[in-house]
Amino acid sequence: MMQLVNGKYQIDGVDVLQIAQDFGTPVYVYSAETMKRQYKRLSNAFPGVKLHLHYACKALSNVNVLKYMKQLGAGLDAVSIQEVDLGLHAGFPANEILYTPNGVGMDEIDQAIAKGVRINIDNISILEQFGAKYGAKVPVCIRVNPHIMAGGNAKIYTGHIDSKFGISYYQLRHVLRVVNLYGIQVEGLHMHTGSDILDAEVFIRGAELLFDAAQDFKDLKYMDFGSGFKVAYKSADVTTDIEDIGDKIAKRFKEFCEQYGRSLELWFEPGKFLVSESGYFLVKTNVVKQTTSTMFAGVDSGLNHLIRPMLYDAYHNITNVSNPDGIERIYAVVGYICETDTFGWDRKLNEVKEGDVLAFHNAGAYGFSMASNYNSRFRPAEVFILDGKAHLIRRRETFEDLLQTQIELQF
Ligand SMILES: *Cc1c(COP(=O)(O)O)cnc(C)c1O
Repeated sequence: MMQLVNGKYQIDGVDVLQIAQDFGTPVYVYSAETMKRQYKRLSNAFPGVKLHLHYACKALSNVNVLKYMKQLGAGLDAVSIQEVDLGLHAGFPANEILYTPNGVGMDEIDQAIAKGVRINIDNISILEQFGAKYGAKVPVCIRVNPHIMAGGNAKIYTGHIDSKFGISYYQLRHVLRVVNLYGIQVEGLHMHTGSDILDAEVFIRGAELLFDAAQDFKDLKYMDFGSGFKVAYKSADVTTDIEDIGDKIAKRFKEFCEQYGRSLELWFEPGKFLVSESGYFLVKTNVVKQTTSTMFAGVDSGLNHLIRPMLYDAYHNITNVSNPDGIERIYAVVGYICETDTFGWDRKLNEVKEGDVLAFHNAGAYGFSMASNYNSRFRPAEVFILDGKAHLIRRRETFEDLLQTQIELQF
């Protein structure tokens, strides 16, 4: 966590300006301590149930973070065959990886099966092809869409009626036809309703539908309730009260297991909850520009490195690390990309001078993993703070990296 100690900002005891100096900017910095704290919080929040967490690695896919999650005891949630390969490379046993793709062809499912990972199927067409090819040989999980409107922002809903994700709850009769015809072994039922879920009600409503559905599947080993735990982006934000939600869900899950006749595992696949708060994105102020309406602080980054504010209207707190005692003034913090890439309007920051290092908070999830080379800029470096020491875990790109995959014709 970032703290002001004797007038200097530190992350887990490491001086933030020193990180910016040693590794340059822009740079993503992740605190292992914070990841561990969040993992433990979630692990302890569901009393009396067999809980298993799969880290949704699309949030932050550096292989060191994957290894750290494995060390904490997590499995992995992978949404592409490349994420499956990253997980295997990081040392996850194949059966600890759940492959939850959307809109992939049977060829990619075949590859995942060959690698031995667990398969989550999210449409009937693939379920039919899967059944015809593998029958009872490979157990599967089925992704059900409970049609619940959840989440704080329409762009991150995944469980509603128009969503492309999952097999509609109302199509379960059809699913059963396919399952029975091919003798498919359904070992899990899954739902993922979207991000930023605030209360237990939403989970319970979806869960009840899955509990109902479970009556038709007699060999279940687990139920996977996806993710969507909200974390605080602004200090005044209402966040998921994980302990409260955990109590309620655990209680209802235990009742269900008794009635089902077997004690199933309860799975979740959090991304943001585990890594968002662990991350800071450090940038340097290139220019301070006063226009007729606005004081802009222009930094050495843009939507190419942190796109959430522009893509989702996400709010990321910003701190001027270089000037903790400066008077507060109002800024629009903007990027250097030739697009309108505003990180935040009307931010109260300690007075910003050119050269000052600014830190974006909550930059662990969907920060680097959504970064691009737009404007032919290099993607940033990544630093991992482990046991009070800063380690470079991805070097900044170079000009050679930009050309590496291009094939230059001779003409
Ligand atoms: C993205 C995703 C998650 C993680 O969501 P967060 O909001 O980051 O916790 C979990 N499961 C699936 C299937 C996903 O696509």
